[in-house]
Amino acid sequence: MTTSSSSVAETTKSQSYFPLAGASHDGWTRGDRATATCFCGAVQLSFPTKAPGLVDTFMCHCTDCRKITASMFASNFTIDDAYLTRERGDENLSSYSQSKTIATGNTMTNYFCSTCGSLMYRRGTGFPGMSILRLGTVDDFALHERELKPRIEQFVKDRVCWVRDAEGIEQVEGYAYA
Ligand SMILES: [Zn+2]
Ligand SMILES: [Zn+2]
Repeated sequence: MTTSSSSVAETTKSQSYFPLAGASHDGWTRGDRATATCFCGAVQLSFPTKAPGLVDTFMCHCTDCRKITASMFASNFTIDDAYLTRERGDENLSSYSQSKTIATGNTMTNYFCSTCGSLMYRRGTGFPGMSILRLGTVDDFALHERELKPRIEQFVKDRVCWVRDAEGIEQVEGYAYA
């Protein structure tokens, strides 16, 4: 096995890991806070990696998440807005809102980088005072393995057939927050 392919699994158990994953490379973890940065680097947020600021972590296979992420599922974590800091690029965020495809009928507003298109977070009327960030924007890849590992996997009824249950993660057929 090459060093690069084994490094995530081997180094992330106890220390931070910041691979080159976008145009900027200035993300950080400091104590119980860490950064999330868009692909081009214009937008950077920081957030807590523990409760109460870190509210939940989840994967979602709903049809809306598949379309908005241009992928097969979304990997998310929910942050209490009182603990969310805009490090830079707030003016570079564009937003798009709609309720047509949201299973609960709530309105979901998506905030994405105007330059590179990275979806940084979503805000829903069903989750007042909270922002739903994207695991893939978190700069410290070790956090993907530990603090931000999804707790539940929801809308598994909409999961594509060639993706299996995530190991050790609670499975929910539909909406988990009803
Ligand atoms: Zn960007
Ligand atoms: Zn979803």
